Amino acid sequence: MTGAVLVKNVWLAAGDAAPLRKVNCLVGKDGIIAALEKDFSACAAEVQLDGRGLILAPGFIDAHGHSDISALAAPECFSKVSQGVTTEICGNCGLSAFPVTDENLSHLQELYGNYGVDIRWRSCREYLDFCRELCCKSSLIPLCGHNTLRAAVRNYGEGRADDAEIKEMCRLLKQDLDSGAAGLSFGLLYTPGIFAEPDEIFALMQTVARHNKICAAHLRSEGDRLLESASEMIELSLESGLKHFHFSHLKTAGKDNFAKLDKLFELFEDARQKGLKITCDRYPYIESMTQLSVALPGKWKTLDDVALKKLLAFAEEKIQLAADLKNAKDDEYWQRCRIVNCTHPRFISYRGRKICEIPGDPAENAVEMLSFDPVNCQVAFETMSEKNMKKIIAQPFCVAGSDGNALPADGRFGHTHPRAFGAVARFLRLALDMGISIEESVSKVSGRSAEIFELGDRGIIAPGKRGDLVLFDPDSIDSKADFSVPETPAAGIACVIKNGEIIYN
Ligand SMILES: [Zn+2]
Repeated sequence: MTGAVLVKNVWLAAGDAAPLRKVNCLVGKDGIIAALEKDFSACAAEVQLDGRGLILAPGFIDAHGHSDISALAAPECFSKVSQGVTTEICGNCGLSAFPVTDENLSHLQELYGNYGVDIRWRSCREYLDFCRELCCKSSLIPLCGHNTLRAAVRNYGEGRADDAEIKEMCRLLKQDLDSGAAGLSFGLLYTPGIFAEPDEIFALMQTVARHNKICAAHLRSEGDRLLESASEMIELSLESGLKHFHFSHLKTAGKDNFAKLDKLFELFEDARQKGLKITCDRYPYIESMTQLSVALPGKWKTLDDVALKKLLAFAEEKIQLAADLKNAKDDEYWQRCRIVNCTHPRFISYRGRKICEIPGDPAENAVEMLSFDPVNCQVAFETMSEKNMKKIIAQPFCVAGSDGNALPADGRFGHTHPRAFGAVARFLRLALDMGISIEESVSKVSGRSAEIFELGDRGIIAPGKRGDLVLFDPDSIDSKADFSVPETPAAGIACVIKNGEIIYN
């Protein structure tokens, strides 16, 4: 703690959508907001900032991140902090750093190998203790990920979980919900969550419901079976007694599905009538990013990246995969497929470009990349509608989520989607440009997210709340990152304060 901080002469967007007002804001030596508006002319605060012309907002909350391990490897969390994010909901899309058992430890260690973090915890409690020791600049509030949870009980293989296995998943989940997990996330597109039957999802939702917490999900399908996938989760939520369901990175993927948005909102409204609270997050881009391996056909789809790498060590399997890919994917697919990250020395200079730009056969090149390091092989596709993105962002139940990692400024952990360094800043820019008021826009990156994940101590600027603050310029705030240089920090962020300490300016 550096001492008391006084921010003078700012326009306050408090995070609760209340009208802007001119204030002075004092954060005490304890890192807690002490007072607002008082005449501080005689105040002897050690740090005094003149915020004239700027907006004072609560430290931004990224409602959807994946920094579970990366923040431990890069505790400065530059990609987050440089766009004003001081808190992130992690453990999304079914993938969390806990619970760890002998069943999933070696796999998780391999999955996160790039970061060089030794997984020495088992439960949520131990994980959070580990995070605290490292003093990550952006706080992590984890969800328990269903894929990690399922693998902790029955590894990453296919098949239905039996009653005893479901019971054990519920026991581990309860333990983690009791010790700091904000809820449960599903990633039903990925292994091993993809194998979960409704009875498994139902039992886990019931456990979450008993704790009065939230379930979030990356749906089984965000495109051709979007409505069926959304209905599946809504129906199970209602049956299980869950109170609040959150749709992760809500989208209508694939142009044949763009027209489904209104119907989707109708499903939401209908569920609300039945008593289910529904919210969502969204990143402000129309290109998604995912593992290249996710799009593999046939038997390959059932393998996670660690298993895939083992299989592709055999030459005949590589030949088979290349043949299967040539059958399944046409030229148009490879023209749309952008390599975001890969570690294969032959292809590293193509990061940020389309696979079809590499000389040679695109399917064979893809197999080469995958056999070298599938875990760090990510691709992006332009699959979304700009119009729908704006329509989703405009909904009062939608908050900003980056779907990105906390990363250092030097790119040492590889390339990424520009959203990691820019999603929250760009969300604000877009919301303001769409005519959403500044008070409301700020609440979508702070107070409303705090409300969704029940973070009572932050997200709002008021005495007694954490001294997490952002001073920003509403005219210039925006992302400056793109696919060629994703590590570019956002514009318009004047100062970021975390627990009363300046961490970025
Ligand atoms: Zn996801």
